[in-house]
Amino acid sequence: MGYKKPSFIEGIAEKLGIIPNLHKEGYQEIDNDMRHFTDEEVAQMYENFPPPEKWDNWVEYNPKVWPRKEKITYQIIPTTCFNCESACGLTAFIDKETQEVKKFEGNPYHPGSRGRNCAKGPATINQITDPDRILFPLKRKGKRGGGEWERISWDDALDTIAIRIRKAIMEDRHNEIAYHVGRQGNEKFMNWILQGWGIDGHNSHTNICSSGARFGYNIWYGYDRPSPDHAEAKFILLISAHLESGHYFNPHAQRIIEGKMKGAKLATMDPRLSNTASMSDYWLPSYPGTEAAVLLAMALIILEEGLYNREYLENWTNWKEYLKARHTDKEVTFENYIAALIAEYKEFTPEFAEKESGVKAEMIIEIAHKIGEAGERFASHNWRAAAASNLGGWAVSRCLHFLTVLTGAVGTKGGTSPNSWNKFKPEQPNPPKPQKKWNELHFPKEYPLAFFEMSQLLPHMLKEGRGKMDVYFSRVFNPVWTYPDGFTWMEMFSDESKFGLHAALTPIWSETAFFADFVLPMGLASERHDLNSYATHGGTWLAFRQPVLREAARRNGNPVKLTYEANPGEVWEEDEFFIELSWRIDPDGSMGIRKHFESPYRPGEKITIDEYYQYIFERVKGLPETAKKEGLTELQYMQKYGAFEIEKGESYKKNETALSSEQLEGSKVDPTTDVISKNGKPIGVMINGKACVGFPTPSRKNEFYSQTMVDWKWPEYATPTYIKSHIHNDNLDKSKGEYVLVPTFRLPTLIHSRSGNAKWLVEISNRNPIWMHPDDADKWGFKTGDLVKLNTDIGYFIDKVWVTQSMKPGVVACSHHIGRWRRPQDETGNRWATNTVNIDGDGKGGWKMNTISGIEPYESDDRDSKRIFWKDGGVHQNITHAVHPDPISGMHCWHQRVRIEKPGKDEKYGDIFVDTNKSHEVYKEWMAMTRPAPGPNGERRPLWFNRAFKPDISTYYIDKEKDK
Ligand code: SF4
Repeated sequence: MGYKKPSFIEGIAEKLGIIPNLHKEGYQEIDNDMRHFTDEEVAQMYENFPPPEKWDNWVEYNPKVWPRKEKITYQIIPTTCFNCESACGLTAFIDKETQEVKKFEGNPYHPGSRGRNCAKGPATINQITDPDRILFPLKRKGKRGGGEWERISWDDALDTIAIRIRKAIMEDRHNEIAYHVGRQGNEKFMNWILQGWGIDGHNSHTNICSSGARFGYNIWYGYDRPSPDHAEAKFILLISAHLESGHYFNPHAQRIIEGKMKGAKLATMDPRLSNTASMSDYWLPSYPGTEAAVLLAMALIILEEGLYNREYLENWTNWKEYLKARHTDKEVTFENYIAALIAEYKEFTPEFAEKESGVKAEMIIEIAHKIGEAGERFASHNWRAAAASNLGGWAVSRCLHFLTVLTGAVGTKGGTSPNSWNKFKPEQPNPPKPQKKWNELHFPKEYPLAFFEMSQLLPHMLKEGRGKMDVYFSRVFNPVWTYPDGFTWMEMFSDESKFGLHAALTPIWSETAFFADFVLPMGLASERHDLNSYATHGGTWLAFRQPVLREAARRNGNPVKLTYEANPGEVWEEDEFFIELSWRIDPDGSMGIRKHFESPYRPGEKITIDEYYQYIFERVKGLPETAKKEGLTELQYMQKYGAFEIEKGESYKKNETALSSEQLEGSKVDPTTDVISKNGKPIGVMINGKACVGFPTPSRKNEFYSQTMVDWKWPEYATPTYIKSHIHNDNLDKSKGEYVLVPTFRLPTLIHSRSGNAKWLVEISNRNPIWMHPDDADKWGFKTGDLVKLNTDIGYFIDKVWVTQSMKPGVVACSHHIGRWRRPQDETGNRWATNTVNIDGDGKGGWKMNTISGIEPYESDDRDSKRIFWKDGGVHQNITHAVHPDPISGMHCWHQRVRIEKPGKDEKYGDIFVDTNKSHEVYKEWMAMTRPAPGPNGERRPLWFNRAFKPDISTYYIDKEKDK
């Protein structure tokens, strides 16, 4: 350890007073002054997070007053990040003197993120100190959308909303109440509330996000998302930019790099040279929508060259069913199965895949060999990207899982598990029964297989008069901006006969909150309670998001009763809000609602937030024992560490779990299929004489052949298939300048519409130009910065061109998250990120938006708001997209057919036009592609399919009398 002497230059500069004299006598009075340490030692120190025993009294120097030495004593309290679904661990550093949160760092005790965060985690500090944040409940004055608000009390808001909900339930109008969520992240809390009210009122954003991928996985093995074991893999295939963005990407990214450091190879399929592709060993710049063709070509190579895992295929795919259904002339032997597979996919040669995708045949062959060699250690991921962008996008994840099945890498070490194997499910107090209602505004008959609520169609269904929303909660949800066809949302939100009461539960202003009746401020990462548990690797963990100032107050002996008493202003949280609302809906308990929200410890009294979580934590495997060792209750343990590891890695091959003798008692084995059933329900399958639990499918195996697809009128998709996308080259007219626009990619520093209030993030990323390859730019005569007009099916937007070799020729792309706006009447709101725009409607469905001014510096308590140097807030692209619901998965198919042209001389950057009549026509065109319920036995949905907030089984049968 050596003290660094001043250099010659430093000595002179100090003497002349150009820099402070850091070397004068007595300056080094602190032992651990950083300059006593070598660079390596300093690096080591930063590896070491403050130990938990010092979290209540942690002293650091204030870096802002350097070189003055000013100590700050912090209380460190863990929580979890609220900026993407990963819910990485954060620790809030609270100044003990001022009781202000000063910064956020990672939480090394969080098993998913292990102390690491992306840029958006620490930027939480910007969000909680944002000058434009909403601090008090607001009610609109004047016309909806008029921009005028008045402050009200929480009591006013609760009473008004509760009376209206109570009336709707009493009048059997349950389906007019809905809660529409941007991203849940609270592990079953809202099931408890909404099912407690007896309504089928959950609506989510999932059909604009991940239901395509979910469907493709589910149809194989009854689980709807993958949990790749990257750190143990030998070969990793990503169909996305997952190393830099996407679900669970930070926890996954660190494990992908771990895998790579141990020798794994990484391949990325993406038409864009993303940061992920640039870190990969193989980049496959496939033409959008052709990914399944490439995957099937790899499958064919694995089959033809015998690189498959025979034992796995024989035991864990329903091959006998396939041969019996599709090859009645053949004997049911495994050899015939393989031969039939090779015949089925014979057209998917590497050359065919190259012709479709543009990816070189040699690369496809090489990767197929690597996947075959990796065997059980082949990890892969597809979540949004291709599965979320194309007609038939769900077939991409289905074909990707095909490779996992062929190599026997399902649920193995270094392979890809179902996410439910690595996810905690809470047991809640006084749990309600499933609701006896089915809301056809969420799951209409046209989409019996849709994997989540058809939320993107809600405004069109309201327009058609299929129903109304009497009480509608939007919760951290911004469809006007994030969804396709935002003008139709605006039209419907503005109509009080469609949306009776709209309460926006949100931490920040959004384009949707502008059209609410109540804007109710909800907490950010450090201001709310939530449970989180995600499949980030081969283990299971639970994390606790908590309001850190409330927790600090408790530890310091000043407990508060409700979270808004400790938060800034009167910012609250959904947990306490909905418990309180439930009591006001059913004040005397006569509706049977209140009983669910009574204390499990104090009968008849209202449950407190601490009681809710204590009840759950008492039932977490291993937590009571661990907490006891420290002399803590289960809740206190979670308040202290913010996370608990329920199961370390090694949770592999759970399908092979043996059924217990108790489970087997009274069961029967089907002699043809080997499926074990009990009380009419399949519970497992016999594999080589062993009763295994298997997968939750009808065959209890991976279903290469899906009788479900046949039964529900899609026999052509009974086996994994390549479906030509709506933006396939065959569907574009190049002579008219038609291109495919990839509008889905994320910038690593932003997250949909959640990060517009984070100045550091917006400073880094604030424009969304059109990525264009130099060959295309030359063809059109564009150079970087030129204006380009992109005509969609329902309108156009005008953006700037960015000429880059990172884009596949023939394809253009535009990022998410940017193009945020407010209108002149919306005085504040995300001013780091918003353009001020003018919106004009012609009253006949024609809407224009144009930019009045870009981002500008402004006066506020935050001195940085005067220092804003960026001006260009980008362009809102999604609002010019029509809805494209995939007829099977229900997923919105994001990719756009666009016609490129140069703008006219009066057209300006940021100009937007949309005709909502056209958008309604496009909605009808896509609806016409569906094959509606009922399916077998009058079912409205396959009984074995999961469904969000699954209702009572009696609701699964279409009432034929009522429907006449
Ligand atoms: S990946 Fe980043 S934004 Fe997502 S939870 Fe982790 S720190 Fe937050």
